[in-house]
Amino acid sequence: MNTVKQENITLTGCVDCLMIVANDDASGMDAETEATVRAGINDWAIEGYVLVPGDDEDHFSRARCEVCGTHLAGARHEIVAIPR
Ligand SMILES: [Zn+2]
Repeated sequence: MNTVKQENITLTGCVDCLMIVANDDASGMDAETEATVRAGINDWAIEGYVLVPGDDEDHFSRARCEVCGTHLAGARHEIVAIPR
Protein backbone atom coordinates (compact mmCIF):
# COMPACT_ATOMS: atom_id res chain seq x y z
CA MET A 1 0.00 0.00 0.00
CA ASN A 2 1.20 3.46 -0.90
CA THR A 3 1.60 5.31 2.38
CA VAL A 4 3.07 8.49 0.91
CA LYS A 5 -0.19 10.13 -0.01
CA GLN A 6 -3.12 8.94 2.02
CA GLU A 7 -6.68 9.90 1.38
CA ASN A 8 -9.98 8.81 2.83
CA ILE A 9 -11.07 5.45 1.52
CA THR A 10 -14.72 4.49 1.41
CA LEU A 11 -15.18 0.86 2.34
CA THR A 12 -18.10 -1.51 2.18
CA GLY A 13 -18.52 -3.08 5.57
CA CYS A 14 -20.87 -5.60 7.15
CA VAL A 15 -23.22 -4.72 9.97
CA ASP A 16 -20.96 -6.39 12.56
CA CYS A 17 -18.08 -4.14 11.58
CA LEU A 18 -20.32 -1.09 11.59
CA MET A 19 -21.53 -1.87 15.12
CA ILE A 20 -18.00 -2.02 16.47
CA VAL A 21 -16.73 0.93 14.41
CA ALA A 22 -19.68 3.10 15.40
CA ASN A 23 -20.42 2.03 18.96
CA ASP A 24 -17.79 -0.52 19.96
CA ASP A 25 -20.82 -2.76 20.40
CA ALA A 26 -20.12 -6.47 20.01
CA SER A 27 -23.21 -7.61 21.90
CA GLY A 28 -24.91 -8.93 18.76
CA MET A 29 -22.14 -11.27 17.66
CA ASP A 30 -20.30 -14.30 18.93
CA ALA A 31 -16.72 -14.13 20.18
CA GLU A 32 -15.25 -15.50 16.96
CA THR A 33 -17.02 -12.89 14.86
CA GLU A 34 -15.94 -10.14 17.22
CA ALA A 35 -12.33 -11.31 17.03
CA THR A 36 -12.46 -11.36 13.23
CA VAL A 37 -13.93 -7.87 13.10
CA ARG A 38 -11.41 -6.46 15.55
CA ALA A 39 -8.57 -8.08 13.60
CA GLY A 40 -9.87 -6.44 10.42
CA ILE A 41 -10.08 -3.05 12.11
CA ASN A 42 -6.59 -3.55 13.49
CA ASP A 43 -5.26 -4.31 10.00
CA TRP A 44 -6.46 -0.88 8.89
CA ALA A 45 -4.94 0.69 12.00
CA ILE A 46 -1.59 -0.88 11.11
CA GLU A 47 -1.90 0.72 7.67
CA GLY A 48 -2.48 4.04 9.42
CA TYR A 49 -6.22 4.41 9.15
CA VAL A 50 -8.98 5.06 11.64
CA LEU A 51 -12.37 3.67 10.63
CA VAL A 52 -15.51 5.73 11.10
CA PRO A 53 -19.11 5.19 10.01
CA GLY A 54 -19.95 6.61 6.59
CA ASP A 55 -23.30 7.68 5.23
CA ASP A 56 -26.05 5.82 7.00
CA GLU A 57 -27.35 3.98 4.00
CA ASP A 58 -27.34 0.21 3.83
CA HIS A 59 -27.97 -2.23 1.06
CA PHE A 60 -28.13 -5.98 0.79
CA SER A 61 -25.08 -7.52 -0.79
CA ARG A 62 -22.91 -10.59 -1.05
CA ALA A 63 -19.89 -8.38 -1.62
CA ARG A 64 -16.93 -9.11 0.61
CA CYS A 65 -16.77 -6.94 3.72
CA GLU A 66 -13.67 -4.81 3.28
CA VAL A 67 -13.03 -4.67 7.01
CA CYS A 68 -13.39 -8.23 8.33
CA GLY A 69 -13.50 -10.02 4.99
CA THR A 70 -16.72 -11.93 5.50
CA HIS A 71 -18.56 -13.12 2.43
CA LEU A 72 -21.81 -13.68 4.29
CA ALA A 73 -24.73 -12.12 2.50
CA GLY A 74 -26.36 -9.34 4.44
CA ALA A 75 -26.57 -5.63 4.91
CA ARG A 76 -23.55 -3.63 3.87
CA HIS A 77 -22.79 -0.20 5.23
CA GLU A 78 -20.42 2.54 4.29
CA ILE A 79 -17.34 2.73 6.50
CA VAL A 80 -14.71 5.36 5.85
CA ALA A 81 -11.02 4.83 6.48
CA ILE A 82 -9.36 8.11 7.46
CA PRO A 83 -5.57 8.46 7.51
CA ARG A 84 -4.20 9.38 10.90
ZN1 LIG B 1 -17.21 -7.00 8.39
